[in-house]
Amino acid sequence: MPDDPTPQGRPLAGRRALVTGASSGIGLGVAQGLARAGAAVAVNYRSGQEAAEALVAEIRAGGGQAVALQGDVSKEEEVAALFRGTAEAFGGIDLLVANSGIQKDAPVGEMSLKDWQAVISVNLTGQFLCCREAIRAFRQGPERPGKARGAIVCMSSVHELIPWAGHVNYAASKGGVRMMMQSLAQEVARERIRVNAVAPGAIRTPINQEAWDTEEALEKLLRLIPYGRIGEPEDVARAVTWLLSDEADYITGTTLFVDGGMSLYPEFVGNG
Ligand code: NAD
Repeated sequence: MPDDPTPQGRPLAGRRALVTGASSGIGLGVAQGLARAGAAVAVNYRSGQEAAEALVAEIRAGGGQAVALQGDVSKEEEVAALFRGTAEAFGGIDLLVANSGIQKDAPVGEMSLKDWQAVISVNLTGQFLCCREAIRAFRQGPERPGKARGAIVCMSSVHELIPWAGHVNYAASKGGVRMMMQSLAQEVARERIRVNAVAPGAIRTPINQEAWDTEEALEKLLRLIPYGRIGEPEDVARAVTWLLSDEADYITGTTLFVDGGMSLYPEFVGNG
């Protein structure tokens, strides 16, 4: 079916977005979704230059606006440069999707300080740096009577809620994202800046490939998902697009779970 060309089909027309970690997986799907919804999209990548440039070319070929920007979200100066780059390309910024994230798994006795810090630096500090810069930039932007002047979606995880043995750095980072998101939402709501999170369950991307790329692994994974299928980046992209749009104008400080019911204690299906 062709894209709906009506304004209702392009709820982000005229909005300017930065998506971090957008050269693969969920970030890539989100950048495509925002572009389809009419937003100009800055595609941040850390190392996937070719994929980021291919995505930019795809968005432009579809009549959209996009730019690829290299930068490490855990580095303060690089985050500032990312926002400058977005403003130079589009004249400002209205939307942020703080999506970049990594995993470095190990049982706690074998988890090095380096791997603890690496995950916290990207997943939590990286999101803080991006949110702070976005809020500063939104404050410089025009007010929009009756609507949010800027909106942020932080990419969380079901592990902001579900403890995860063998992944203490990752689960701690996502628990931190939840409280950071809510505290920021509370702090900037009066300025008509909305801050929310999306918490994906199991989405088919490179980060968790070993959990779905064999039949046996997939079968084991599906036992954790009441809805009975793995998620796709597009499932997350639709939720992010809606949360960033004016349709969600009264929503701030909320986590939207996109998880096929993974957070519903699936062990209790069938009466426990
Ligand atoms: P992915 O590995 O494809 O994407 C992560 C992206 O982050 C990559 O593009 C990577 O280059 C980028 N990145 C890593 N370190 C960076 C840095 N220092 N600076 C800038 N970018 C950096 O995996 P994904 O599944 O698409 O993950 C995206 C987000 O979704 C992550 O925050 C992840 O925790 C979250 N998430 C994923 C799942 C899932 O099932 N796939 C579930 C819950 C949450």
